[in-house]
Amino acid sequence: MTNILLVEPEFPLPDKSRNHSHFLPIGLLKIGTWHRRKGDRVRLVRGLHSTRVKADRILITSLFTYWSEAVHAAAQFYHRRYPEAQIEIGGIYASLMAGHCQEAVPFAQIHQGLYRNGVAESIRIDFSLLQEYLDYQIVHTTRGCTRHCAFCGTWRIEPEFTWKRSIIPEIQKPRVVFYDNNLLANPHIDDILRELKEYRLAQGRRLTCESQSGFDLRLLTPHRARLLRDARFKYPRIAWDGPYKEWPTVRECVNALKEVGYGRKDIFVFMIYNHHLSYAEMRAKLDACRRWKVRVIDCRYRPLDQTFDRYVPGPKAQTADDYYIHPTWSDLQVRRFRRAVRHQNIAILLNLPNGRYVQGCESRKV
Ligand code: SF4
Repeated sequence: MTNILLVEPEFPLPDKSRNHSHFLPIGLLKIGTWHRRKGDRVRLVRGLHSTRVKADRILITSLFTYWSEAVHAAAQFYHRRYPEAQIEIGGIYASLMAGHCQEAVPFAQIHQGLYRNGVAESIRIDFSLLQEYLDYQIVHTTRGCTRHCAFCGTWRIEPEFTWKRSIIPEIQKPRVVFYDNNLLANPHIDDILRELKEYRLAQGRRLTCESQSGFDLRLLTPHRARLLRDARFKYPRIAWDGPYKEWPTVRECVNALKEVGYGRKDIFVFMIYNHHLSYAEMRAKLDACRRWKVRVIDCRYRPLDQTFDRYVPGPKAQTADDYYIHPTWSDLQVRRFRRAVRHQNIAILLNLPNGRYVQGCESRKV
């Protein structure tokens, strides 16, 4: 029997989003469950805590590369407390920047890709590893992605696109949050959605579902919109990472979702900014969403090898020494775009007259 300590580093996530955004060390939970079944003694700690449990192996997860400092801090912290234990680091940052991670924590073993080739991928998670009760669980129906968008790390970390035909055996909670990078790319997605529609919990209760990532607008057909609605997906998000000229397709997706009963306040459009599309083009995309009266989720681009991010929201200026600024963007534009999104979303949510906030932002020269 091995004593295993699973560690989620102290990621710089605002406290209020730690649970509301379904922030869960899903990889560690799967690995921990797998080891428990093998007879190992497993404990999970979230953050840096002095714990009295024994540890022969310490498995630390990592997320975005720009949160690398939190991973190094966790490795140092637990190495000091358990100098005899083997420290191992896996997850996104470790997979994308193994050399950087190894240099920062030379005493650790770095793992790239899925743990032991995905041995724990479909396991029914032992939620008793967590201290708190959760009414939701995270599920993947696919790994990798069929597309190779330049800014995305998915296909680098998980180069092989793999999928499941069903996730019913994994369901344990009334809310299922899908962490697929591109859920609709699963070749069996229609069957999976039909299964979800039919599935019943105890006392005949139905599931609700959510997709953390945006839906691929090339795969979101009216038929699929209906299946998503029937499977009780909430807050559908459309991924619009491409240029403004794609707006007719995005509008079709928005309309398809409205047709099957989603209200305009339920629908979101994901957009990456501070990237190759100019500020002016991003504003045009934002304007389109204002016309359709749907809200926007903006995602500020950071390169896959960016190892820090000290961006502070607000009016105070910062430079590329603080956070990544794309060569065709400026700090001012990053802040103005973000503010315009916030203001527009408020206007849409509160049914304020079209563009009430946006006009104020647009009138300033950038
Ligand atoms: S479609 Fe989405 S998940 Fe797939 S490579 Fe592009 S950004 Fe990444």
